[in-house]
Amino acid sequence: MNARVAVVGAGLAGCEAAWQIARRGLSVELVEMKPGKRSPAHVSDDFAELVCSNSFRGAELTSAVGLLKAEMRALGGLIISCADDTALPAGGALAVDRERFAALVTERIRSHPLIETSSREAADIPEGNVIFATGPLTSDALAARLRGLFPGSEFLSFYDAAAPIVTHESVDMARAYLASRYGKGDADYINCPMDESEYGAFWDELARAEQAETHGFDDGGVFEGCMPIEVMARRGRDTMRYGPMKPVGLRDPRTGATPYAVVQLRRDNAEGTLYNIVGFQTHLKFAEQKRVFSMIPALHEAEFARYGVMHRNTYINSPALLDRRYRLRSDPRIGFAGQITGVEGYVESAASGMLAGIETARALLGQPPADFPRETAIGALALYVSGGSVGEFQPMNVNFGIIEPLDHKVKGKRNKNLEISSRSLEIIGAMRV
Ligand SMILES: Cc1cc2nc3c(=O)[nH]c(=O)nc-3n(C[C@H](O)[C@H](O)[C@H](O)COP(=O)(O)OP(=O)(O)OC[C@H]3O[C@@H](n4cnc5c(N)ncnc54)[C@H](O)[C@@H]3O)c2cc1C
Repeated sequence: MNARVAVVGAGLAGCEAAWQIARRGLSVELVEMKPGKRSPAHVSDDFAELVCSNSFRGAELTSAVGLLKAEMRALGGLIISCADDTALPAGGALAVDRERFAALVTERIRSHPLIETSSREAADIPEGNVIFATGPLTSDALAARLRGLFPGSEFLSFYDAAAPIVTHESVDMARAYLASRYGKGDADYINCPMDESEYGAFWDELARAEQAETHGFDDGGVFEGCMPIEVMARRGRDTMRYGPMKPVGLRDPRTGATPYAVVQLRRDNAEGTLYNIVGFQTHLKFAEQKRVFSMIPALHEAEFARYGVMHRNTYINSPALLDRRYRLRSDPRIGFAGQITGVEGYVESAASGMLAGIETARALLGQPPADFPRETAIGALALYVSGGSVGEFQPMNVNFGIIEPLDHKVKGKRNKNLEISSRSLEIIGAMRV
């Protein structure tokens, strides 16, 4: 096959980009370095591996990430379709069985007649059209090559962390209860309550616990949306109680009372044998994770299937480099997609791959650009990343703040968000892309 476009990296963004190009009738070579070479966070041989949480976050149209997913459904997205097909019960969120999800994406990609997959590390810039979707852990050789492409300091990085996973059978259910916040959806989370003295002792140990070595890492280099729990603890005694350990809406059905603090566990696989400690991304030494997290009463015997880890996150200075189609302004044959552009999160990465794939295919087919407008979440994210940010560029989750506001007042945030969402879905429905 004589591929018209090369896509480098078969993660969430690369798979979606390749899919969008192929479904428009163009051939694609999808280059992935696994299994020959892996980043420190990737363990599976499949494409579209979820390296930490198994959640695609809020499912409702009252949240911007819920809207972004609805847009991707309307646009025929591969990643969202595989997520829907492998979804697990998770209250108001979309969570998936990570292994079934990645296996399904891999199977659909491999069986597409216009997608050829190559297993090798790309270390150079190919001739012709290319989309780099190599993620936050882009291999060193390619990172060095890309750094050479950009003048000045247009290549950035920060640190990102993953939460530990415990086995279900090791959770002491006599000291935990099932509930979803405010009773939304089914009672899908295991809640591990703490009283005030248990919380105080836990906080004290966590704030002083020993961190693993990472060259160049300090609290200042942390992305606020993925802050290690110990960094949060060091910010103040109650910071965690207003963050991942927030008890509101999680009344204990056995006592009828709201606990002082709650640690939530979210199911991580279809069998329900593994649970993620929600919001507990961490960079503590493994022995310290075991010692301190075992102070959570329901986790006193916890078996850790995977400890939390912290990794470098690499991205380019997109506002200075990219256009709204995620292509280099200086050389539009070269595009980028996913976390390397500075979008943050699974859904955002897949969405940017979708937009990059659609626009690349349209350009090659001689069609006018789609140019998704700021009224849509997918368009607003691309416009933000390619120029909407001011000051130092920081990775960005989708949110209503970057979407074009309504031209009239609507009472209540929920109603306003629903109206923004229906406006966007109407626009996308009429776009024919
Ligand atoms: C430790 C950690 C924890 C995270 N936790 C979360 C989370 O809980 N929730 C969330 O929403 N986001 C999380 N993220 C962010 C997450 O990585 C992104 O949201 C998402 O995976 C990015 O998708 P992507 O397609 O851009 O990159 P990836 O999914 O990382 O895919 C990139 C692919 O490119 C391949 N590759 C790299 N270099 C080369 C090369 N030179 N040649 C060929 N192939 C190459 C890699 O092997 C990989 O398969 C986390 C990131 C890290 C590092």
